[in-house]
Amino acid sequence: MAHGASDQRFNVLVYLDDGVGEAAAVPYYGETQDGIIAYLKSVPDLGDDLFDMDNILARRPAGSRAARSAIDEALHDLWGKKLGQPLYKLFGLNPNNLPLTSFTIGMDEPAVMAEQAKASGHPVLKIKLGSERDEEMVAAIRKSTNAKLRVDANAGWSREQALQIIPRLADYEVEFIEQPLAVDDVEGYFWLKEKLKAQKIKTPIFADETAKNSHDVAKLAGAIDGVVVKTMKSEGIREALRMIHTARAHDMQIMLSCMVESSVGVTAAAHLAPLCDYADLDGPLLIKNDPYTGLKYDGAKMSLPNGAGLGVSEEVILNFSTVQNLFQRPSKYCEIRTTVKNRRSPYLWAFFITTHGRSTSPTPFALSPLFSQRFFNFFEMIFPMDMPLKLELHFCCQYLFNIFISCLFDCSVYGFGGLQGQCGGNTRG
Ligand SMILES: [Mg+2]
Repeated sequence: MAHGASDQRFNVLVYLDDGVGEAAAVPYYGETQDGIIAYLKSVPDLGDDLFDMDNILARRPAGSRAARSAIDEALHDLWGKKLGQPLYKLFGLNPNNLPLTSFTIGMDEPAVMAEQAKASGHPVLKIKLGSERDEEMVAAIRKSTNAKLRVDANAGWSREQALQIIPRLADYEVEFIEQPLAVDDVEGYFWLKEKLKAQKIKTPIFADETAKNSHDVAKLAGAIDGVVVKTMKSEGIREALRMIHTARAHDMQIMLSCMVESSVGVTAAAHLAPLCDYADLDGPLLIKNDPYTGLKYDGAKMSLPNGAGLGVSEEVILNFSTVQNLFQRPSKYCEIRTTVKNRRSPYLWAFFITTHGRSTSPTPFALSPLFSQRFFNFFEMIFPMDMPLKLELHFCCQYLFNIFISCLFDCSVYGFGGLQGQCGGNTRG
């Protein structure tokens, strides 16, 4: 596999006042949680005029793409919140024009991949390739499902390998092929285009890692049929928008995609989905401890939240065992207490609990982790184990939170625990 597999990632949530963004710690791009946090600590005062967005973004120091992206997302969230509108409305986009999202099948034994493809029931699948058995994998999956198939070689083929396998994959009705060549082989894309044209192979070729921003898109004009847009590559929504417009100006198709990201980062990107032909936004479907809710899924069909800004909410629907887990091991919430510039007391957290579907006025049950543990022990005694709970984690109140935000663009850093993959061995990229 070109990028390796992992079942845990440690991302960082970034807050600008009420705005939230996410930095994905993608090892392949050299990003780590520590590196992202170190970058965020180096960010100077970003300014005090929210609507001066270009200048604010220009004040971000050079460095972590993921952290730069998270600042951009948090700024857009705040922008929408100040104006009281969801981002897609501020961009003038129709939320009903969202493409279906694909679901990713990670590399494994061909039979296992075929089984996963069938079991997913998804109408659009993205198959990760880049091994000796690529054709075998695609053949097995094609046999097991009628779903649309897209292939991501993750920069795993040489020019010659790509030229051999791409014509063969045409037999399996592959919709398009993503990143067949090495990341820096821009010339290779022009070479491949000519060779495939000579063989009358029409499978569209998309660039992912080779096209990080609008400049890269322009360099690839004439060599590729489509481009994969991700906010983590483009360093935010603003440059992603430029990528999309640049691609359109060169008659390219566009797929909107994500890294291993929670609902924060994926929802931020999804506001641009009405501008794109394809979506590969299954990040939240691949993790099991999403700290936010936002983009909703009904199978492959997505719908954008209507809240202002990104429209994401810290409200998490958990089942009882997840609640227990929260207190049995170091959790994202525990880490949050210690990483916010060490200024927030662990006792500022309150847990408001209402039973699912019943609206009782929220009551602060616990003000310390120890108290929480005791409360949940008690709770477990009186409610059945699998009873769905709606657990809302809030700051004790907005007032206390505000005390700790000394000025509008003070950059607060939250670390949180690993986003744990439901499908072991799945990688994104
Ligand atoms: Mg890719």
